[in-house]
Amino acid sequence: MRFQCQPLCTACCDQQGFVWLTEDDILRIAAHLGLTPAAFEERYVYRTKRLRRLRVPRHAQCSFLVKDGDRGGCGIHTVKPLQCRAFPFWPELIDNKREWQKTAKFCPGIERGDLINITLARETAAEMKAAHPNLYQG
Ligand code: SF4
Ligand code: SF4
Repeated sequence: MRFQCQPLCTACCDQQGFVWLTEDDILRIAAHLGLTPAAFEERYVYRTKRLRRLRVPRHAQCSFLVKDGDRGGCGIHTVKPLQCRAFPFWPELIDNKREWQKTAKFCPGIERGDLINITLARETAAEMKAAHPNLYQG
């Protein structure tokens, strides 16, 4: 398996689906934006009893995705959610060849660059699993 994120690519941010948040993600991003956690939640977070995720705005997949040619990208890159930082080393992808190949259809970084360090990739996947137990039950 090879992976190297490609400059100026934001394809993963444009996929349908949710960006799940940890409590730590919320605190970190709110502080970065100069908002209280409550104000950040009110504006950007959808919370249920078991899960929290970014709200999906109209006409986009993520409120923080900036589309501006060479200057586009994640508007909160340095503090982005664990789920975004961990991609594509998610538990459901790294040990499932079919899902990995399916992901390669939209992620041009897959099968580019150096061979991945599978130990580090699995550590990242384990971090995801531990941070989102309700997503990875069973
Ligand atoms: S789709 Fe792949 S190459 Fe593109 S930004 Fe996401 S991880 Fe990087
Ligand atoms: S938070 Fe940033 S990295 Fe995550 S989906 Fe939104 S724009 Fe992409």
